[in-house]
Amino acid sequence: MRLSGKTALVTGASRGIGRAIALRFAAEGAFVVVNYAGNEAAAGETLAAIASSGGNAVLSRFDVGDAAQVDEAVKAIVAQRSRIDILVNNAGITRDNLLMRLTEDDFDAVVRTNLKGTFLVTKVVSRQMIRQRCGRIVNMSSVVGEMGNAGQSVYAATKAGILGFTKAMARELASRAITVNAIAPGFISTDMTQSLPEATRKEFAERIPLGRFGAPEEVAELAVFLASDAAAYVTGQVVGINGGMYM
Ligand code: NAP
Repeated sequence: MRLSGKTALVTGASRGIGRAIALRFAAEGAFVVVNYAGNEAAAGETLAAIASSGGNAVLSRFDVGDAAQVDEAVKAIVAQRSRIDILVNNAGITRDNLLMRLTEDDFDAVVRTNLKGTFLVTKVVSRQMIRQRCGRIVNMSSVVGEMGNAGQSVYAATKAGILGFTKAMARELASRAITVNAIAPGFISTDMTQSLPEATRKEFAERIPLGRFGAPEEVAELAVFLASDAAAYVTGQVVGINGGMYM
């Protein structure tokens, strides 16, 4: 029970990596606020899975890119729980295309959710963490933010942006005992990578030294460590979990 008594907000926790983190956090004793954008059924499944294994969680629907919704949702969490110990900025989207075909709308949508969303939620939650004089923030970047990938220019730009944001926040918040770290996963089996053609997935797997995609649960294990008391002296770091794809 490494997160016993903690309240955690996990954005984009209805599916994929966020769901695995929510489940693992709850299993480690945290009260989990499961955020999602619109997929009510998937969010309900996350909540039911936590409840059936004896964990505690609530749903919180808000768009991370909408400042008013973020404000209102975080206020409601603080009103209910009095504190937020852990924030995982995990919500993210892709609109993959080669630059020549990438539209301004695609660019804006990806920046809005991935980068602006991370900024908006961190701004409001860190205000509460500063009052508490403790907290853990974990931002979901990507190996693509470190090494680039053809067809993912805007996605890679947001994930690289998250690394800069993480390091700046780590410096700003360190004096209040708030740590800020980034996880940079490689290819993980979720809806996001499921949408890639089978041939592309096979080709990617061949480029990974460990020869396979990762599981969301493997990323969740790392998130537990960074969110736990054991990681009190770890801040401003980018932790890769990519099967050796990028070293
Ligand atoms: P996913 O399966 O597509 O799930 C995305 C999650 O984000 C869903 O819960 C979705 O909610 C939520 N979401 C999307 N837009 C949102 C918004 N505006 N406000 C609030 N929630 C929003 O994605 P995933 O593969 O688990 O990826 C999770 C994170 O890991 C992302 O940041 C992604 O970039 C990063 N990542 C993934 C991989 C990978 O290989 N899968 C690799 C590196 C990094 P709804 O269900 O309501 O739509």
